[in-house]
Amino acid sequence: MAKLYIVPTPIGNLEDITLRAIRILKEVDLVLAEDTRKTQILLKHYGIENKLSSHHAFNEHKSVYTVIEKLKEGSTIALVSDAGTPGISDPGFLLVRECMKENILVECLPGPTALIPALVNSGLPCDRFIFEGFLPHKKGRQTRLLKLAEEESTLVFYESPHRLAKTMEQFTVFFGPYRLASVSRELSKIHEENIQGTLEELEKHFKDKSIKGEIVIVVSGKCKNPTPDPSPKREGSKNPSPSPSPKREESRATHRVAPPHNEIVHRKSKIV
Ligand code: SAM
Repeated sequence: MAKLYIVPTPIGNLEDITLRAIRILKEVDLVLAEDTRKTQILLKHYGIENKLSSHHAFNEHKSVYTVIEKLKEGSTIALVSDAGTPGISDPGFLLVRECMKENILVECLPGPTALIPALVNSGLPCDRFIFEGFLPHKKGRQTRLLKLAEEESTLVFYESPHRLAKTMEQFTVFFGPYRLASVSRELSKIHEENIQGTLEELEKHFKDKSIKGEIVIVVSGKCKNPTPDPSPKREGSKNPSPSPSPKREESRATHRVAPPHNEIVHRKSKIV
């Protein structure tokens, strides 16, 4: 029977795939992949021989209709991304929405995604969280940060390594220096590390460092009953815009959520 399967794949460690995901990838008529060469490595690792077709951010608007036609003819199709769960900061949403419009069954398998291990590793509250994915680079970034500064839930962001230092600097300005945060790098890979501290500590830690690998940043939400922050204004801190808005100054003053750690917690794990 026609069905679209959304199949999560490992975010680093090839062992992080479910038995059902392997079976579905073997059984479907076609596997749609973001990068067919990358997915071929995974399929080969598990001895899976199946047809691959490319479906990525640059062709999905076109490819979606061909896929829908195949599904209407009765095919079973699996969608995978390069890593993690399709649809999570990856192509997927468009195809799922079109399937729903056409009454085609969709089933998303539970499986790997980078945000969950980063959130749980952070030691910050996991009961309520906001997944932001990648922040806009320019237009809308400041507005988004001002809005997020008011959120009480834990915040989860994806970020590229070369933007990490700048982003930590902005988080310190917009969310206040004493919020607790965690930076997870290379989750499930041999050089995995999870670094916790206040935003100010983490900003200092990553400043002027050349960072490699994949990154998730987790930041504690706004404290419900914040105590005033008596710390003096940081000297030399670059504001993201030339004239800081009163709102931003206010958020800097009221977001003292914890006393400084004085010590950054650095957990490295060797995956064997
Ligand atoms: N679909 C994926 C998921 O379910 O997590 C996300 C894909 S998005 C294009 C890639 C981003 O996810 C990276 O820039 C990074 O922020 C995060 N990411 C993916 N793998 C990671 C890993 N092993 N460690 C840390 N972050 C990772």
